[in-house]
Amino acid sequence: MVHTFSGNPLDREDAGRRDDVWIDTARDDDSTRFLALADLNVPIEGESLHWLHREHFDESDLESALLLGSEEGAARFVVDLSNESASADRYVDARSAATFLSMEDAGVVAHARSLVDWHRRNRFCGRCASPLIPKRGGNVLQCGQCEANLFPRTDPVAIMVIVDGDRCLLGQSSGRMARSNFYSALAGFIDQGESIEEAVRREVMEEGGVRVGDVRYHSSQPWPFPSSLMIGCHGLAETTEISIDEKEMNDVRWFSREEVLAALAEESDVLRIPGRMAIAHHLIHDWATGTIEV
Ligand SMILES: [Zn+2]
Repeated sequence: MVHTFSGNPLDREDAGRRDDVWIDTARDDDSTRFLALADLNVPIEGESLHWLHREHFDESDLESALLLGSEEGAARFVVDLSNESASADRYVDARSAATFLSMEDAGVVAHARSLVDWHRRNRFCGRCASPLIPKRGGNVLQCGQCEANLFPRTDPVAIMVIVDGDRCLLGQSSGRMARSNFYSALAGFIDQGESIEEAVRREVMEEGGVRVGDVRYHSSQPWPFPSSLMIGCHGLAETTEISIDEKEMNDVRWFSREEVLAALAEESDVLRIPGRMAIAHHLIHDWATGTIEV
């Protein structure tokens, strides 16, 4: 299954980006295109990404451009226009843009946004505090002093629908949707030294007090806010009594298959679930409709 924000069609050019001459040549080539992010918002023309030629940028923008890869032999870079006036028709935040962009464009957005955000957050070496220098077209940050290398960061998140026969466990976090009828899959960051299965069991125990046995992987989704990878799973409940973590969760509850099917058809008064852009929708859908056996 291909989720929104996956499906980036670019060749990431692992060989080319190790060659500084290749990168300089690509940057100067007429076929090369640049995507200028303004405060991490993406430039839109019609319902597509708005790519620009090199002449729209000054020399310092071009020098700091990060290589995304290439498409049909033409290089693609992203430029961080944080402090300058932007020249596209309009800029849209990545989440809103993904609702109308093609799967391919949304995949490029995920890559470009996470990469630029990573560069913004990492200016100095964590070991010796010297400035970091971009290498390999921006896919490595190297310390100019101690030569430590940093690589682009991805934070794995386990997201799971726990099943007990003909019902599933959904939660409402204590954030902005609290006290509405909006529920979603439980989720949490995978900890260091922890497997996906262990993270699923721990998070469900912490948030809902339910013990989980068998865990099965479903699919994954890049989530570039700033750089998560949502790892979608189903799990089988071994206990059914709920004990809510009231700091994190407003509610955790079992919903019947009928209630979930009504919510999927947007015909429910008691339950609303995330839309198709989110992996949670597909985890819930595929269980409720019997698309997969859990
Ligand atoms: Zn250092």
